[in-house]
Amino acid sequence: SIPLLLHSFVFRASGLTTLPSILLIGPSGSGKTSLLTLFERGTSAAQTHTSQAPISAECHLPVGTLASSNKYRSVNDPTNRAHKKFLLIDTPGHGKLRHHALANITNPQNLKGIIFVVDAATLSAGDEGLRHTADYLHDILLILQKRTESKNKAVKALKEIPILIAANKGDLFTALPASLVKSSLEMEISKVRASRSKGLLDSGIGMEDEGDRDEWLGEVGSTEFRFKQMEEFDVVVEVSGGNVAGGEGAVVDKWWAWISERL
Ligand code: GDP
Repeated sequence: SIPLLLHSFVFRASGLTTLPSILLIGPSGSGKTSLLTLFERGTSAAQTHTSQAPISAECHLPVGTLASSNKYRSVNDPTNRAHKKFLLIDTPGHGKLRHHALANITNPQNLKGIIFVVDAATLSAGDEGLRHTADYLHDILLILQKRTESKNKAVKALKEIPILIAANKGDLFTALPASLVKSSLEMEISKVRASRSKGLLDSGIGMEDEGDRDEWLGEVGSTEFRFKQMEEFDVVVEVSGGNVAGGEGAVVDKWWAWISERL
């Protein structure tokens, strides 16, 4: 029938709905737009604009990086190319615009993973950037932890969600190495978690209350938050370092490898 034909035409013409997608999240200024530009064009843009709305880009894995689903296919197999394509979706990190990022999580289209970009040079103890970043990451992880109770079928259906914390700006001498980015964020998220639950206690609702236990990130009863605690909720967190810009050129091979393993 004509409507069916039209439907399939529109579906194919848009093309994007079927591409695997990777979502970029993180505080503003961490380097998301720079990363998107680099991955799309293969070069770092001289300047980036302040993002107001999500921007997505169709990207290709660089030659030599093999998507895991393609491991056993011949190099000459035409489906190879199609499988190496993916959609990278940028989201604004500005507080007021965060609902865009959340909308993408709660309405994923073939979502394969999330890259949470952090500025590794602003994560030292006492740095305001650390608190800000931990706060944001806590909220994202909690949304993912609670996805099973979501009314959105697409979210509910997500079995496993891989998250890469990309410790960006490694070229700056004040930048923490990935291992320290990980432990600093874990420590700071522990504090965020404790202060949020204190807020709940002060409001007269204790942890005995079933509903509020759901607001606790990770393992109930643990004093220290660890990313590993998210695995119980099938949220697998990895931290690795690199830099999009900087004098010596971009170092993003670990991030490419992470993406390629998820396509
Ligand atoms: P966004 O707000 O997360 O999209 O961040 P942008 O991509 O706009 O980057 C914010 C600023 O950080 C820009 O001035 C970038 O040039 C700079 N930047 C991004 N990545 C790096 C990096 O790896 N090293 C250094 N030194 N600067 C970076």
